[in-house]
Amino acid sequence: MERKELTDKVSLVTGASRGLGRAIAVKLAISGSKVAINYVANDAEASKVAREIEQQGGEVMLCKASVADAAAVKTMVRQIVAKWGQIDILVNNAGIVRDNLMLRMPDEAWDEVINTNLRGAYLCTKYVLRSMMDQSGGRIINIASLAGLVGNIGQANYAAAKGGLLAFTKSVAKEVGSRGITVNAIAPGFIVTDMTDKLPQEAKDTILARIAVKRFGTPEDVADLVAFLASPHASYITAQVICIDGGVI
Ligand code: NAP
Repeated sequence: MERKELTDKVSLVTGASRGLGRAIAVKLAISGSKVAINYVANDAEASKVAREIEQQGGEVMLCKASVADAAAVKTMVRQIVAKWGQIDILVNNAGIVRDNLMLRMPDEAWDEVINTNLRGAYLCTKYVLRSMMDQSGGRIINIASLAGLVGNIGQANYAAAKGGLLAFTKSVAKEVGSRGITVNAIAPGFIVTDMTDKLPQEAKDTILARIAVKRFGTPEDVADLVAFLASPHASYITAQVICIDGGVI
């Protein structure tokens, strides 16, 4: 039987019950990795992802935990390492939006977005790094956003969290590069998921007009890039931000 590129690897994908995280978990599993599926609320969707992977012969574990909760993240990481001995690939994907114009932004909308999208990545990275340091190798892939590079009206909280994630990526990459650990960020443009589904049709049409390839991205487009960054072919790529946006003009 053909040996898959990520055989014997263990991945933790946060926010893997839906959208990008779901596609990333499935792709990593197809590539041979055992996958821990993190999510915060949606048991039914998370179980569906687990079943899908198991039906294809993959190994999964469900990890219900808020990435913004330090104690919960610590416990989650401990449970994964207890079961599978290590974590080789961390995909910090869990994210939320709470859009509002600056003058109308409730403080809770600022705090929730920063806590999930930025603090969440910080906590998961911090607790997973020990396992990666011990084995002198690992891949950390942070799912940021184009908004973190160019900003977006109504998304000052989200853009600040994602911009912070880019700077976080570069800093951690410099700290751990000598230990064989790479840290990269992916900045997707518009990808069809529950998150973007809520936008009014008019806004979608305006965005589509600005995309060079004239289609929205799919979660699988992003999952393919994650699988590449997690693979042996990407060992010399670190501290990078890779846009995947169909060529936003
Ligand atoms: P989505 O469909 O709304 O799914 C969000 C996922 O995050 C769900 O699995 C959700 O779990 C999980 N989640 C939310 N809060 C969490 C928490 N505190 N702890 C753990 N998990 C949590 O989102 P998506 O569109 O796939 O986005 C995924 C990532 O890509 C996000 O970081 C987003 O900012 C980024 N992104 C998306 C786009 C896009 O166009 N879609 C573009 C750029 C960047 P439950 O199911 O349990 O709620």
